[in-house]
Amino acid sequence: MAKKKVGIIGGGIVGTALGYNLSLYDSIDVTVFEKSQIGSGTTAKSAGTVCLFDDSLSNKYWDVRLYGFETFMNMEREEKGSAGFDNCGTLVVATDEEVENTIKTGIALAVSAGYSGDYLTDPDEIRKIIPDLSLEGVLGAGWTADDGYFDATMASNTFVKKMRANGATVLTGTKVEKVNISGGRVTGVETTKGSFDLDVVVDASGPWTRFTGKLAGLDLPIWHTKAEAFFLAPPKKKLDYRFPVLKYPRFYARPEGDNIFICKAHLTMDLSDEMHAGRWDPDKLPEKGGTDDYFLEFLFEQMEEHIPGFIDCGVSFSWLGYRAEPPDFMPILGDSAVDGYLLAIGCGGNGVIEGPTIGRDLAKYIATGEKTLLIEHLSLDRFEGQSLP
Ligand SMILES: Cc1cc2nc3c(=O)[nH]c(=O)nc-3n(C[C@H](O)[C@H](O)[C@H](O)COP(=O)(O)OP(=O)(O)OC[C@H]3O[C@@H](n4cnc5c(N)ncnc54)[C@H](O)[C@@H]3O)c2cc1C
Repeated sequence: MAKKKVGIIGGGIVGTALGYNLSLYDSIDVTVFEKSQIGSGTTAKSAGTVCLFDDSLSNKYWDVRLYGFETFMNMEREEKGSAGFDNCGTLVVATDEEVENTIKTGIALAVSAGYSGDYLTDPDEIRKIIPDLSLEGVLGAGWTADDGYFDATMASNTFVKKMRANGATVLTGTKVEKVNISGGRVTGVETTKGSFDLDVVVDASGPWTRFTGKLAGLDLPIWHTKAEAFFLAPPKKKLDYRFPVLKYPRFYARPEGDNIFICKAHLTMDLSDEMHAGRWDPDKLPEKGGTDDYFLEFLFEQMEEHIPGFIDCGVSFSWLGYRAEPPDFMPILGDSAVDGYLLAIGCGGNGVIEGPTIGRDLAKYIATGEKTLLIEHLSLDRFEGQSLP
């Protein structure tokens, strides 16, 4: 029987996780089209935190979080460094009861899966982990030494290495410029390196989705929020303790060599605030810089309140990325209005966590026609009849 030909637009963490999973099916012939380099889009700008528990992705999606974490850990086990894991642990601070409950549930889930997790209420215990914290108004903090952050570009390249070993094709420097549709059905794509006949095209183009969707005649409900990351240089050039991933409800931080990466939390962004959200052209993003004073001021206010020990840090560099956000801040997966044009879009601030599960579940749907609960739950249909912002 002829193989089903599947093309993926985008070689970020989502497109490469999907490509790898598709390459596991004998019935599929998969090609990834990446206009630039693998993992060079939003994936390269990510903090790469895949924590066992925090408040970035609801506990409702615990299995997604765990599968993401274990996929990258397995990569590391197969070949050290292949997912760029830094096992620095995570401290998640609770400033209100709702976050406290989220953390406590997260800890129970992590412990049930065999990982460590403790809810600390003694300020001295919390300060043993990060001495620079002010704990005024803090209820407690969840701590695990078992997780940390990954290098999502490295992980994307590892997915590519594995899918090529399975016979998949990965074309870099190859932009999809046209999606061919006949009788309401996808028949292929035109790229800067020629035409390809395809049975299925998957849009995994991250913040470029507004443009790629239009190639298929679709106006997809994706906004951008600004993800402005600042790299702080401690006053004495180096901290004299090991900084973990630190999560507060309104910002998060993690180590980056001797510097500290700090960013406003994505769920605090407001799609109706034009400082936070809009629809922009990701091709115009500079590699570094491009950030607004607004976000730096916000983060320094947060530091003054919560990490006063950091207030004398200098900013060594910064970058701006666009998160692709649907109205409910959850991805859009599966079918679109065009037969054969599938979606793996809108991963917002959690695409590294979500990429492995999206890849696994969407590959199964494409290969077998069976939808997992996640694909059903996160379909485009959920916005039908809604007035969107
Ligand atoms: C500052 C920041 C911090 C973040 N921190 C975290 C975090 O800690 N944890 C987490 O889980 N997530 C985090 N995220 C979110 C995460 O980075 C994204 O959700 C994820 O990288 C999205 O991956 P993607 O593959 O969908 O998109 P991308 O990585 O943007 O990949 C899309 C690719 O499509 C390609 N493309 C576009 N158009 C075309 C075309 N026409 N033809 C061919 N190729 C095309 C692009 O070149 C690009 O490489 C963060 C994001 C930012 C910006």
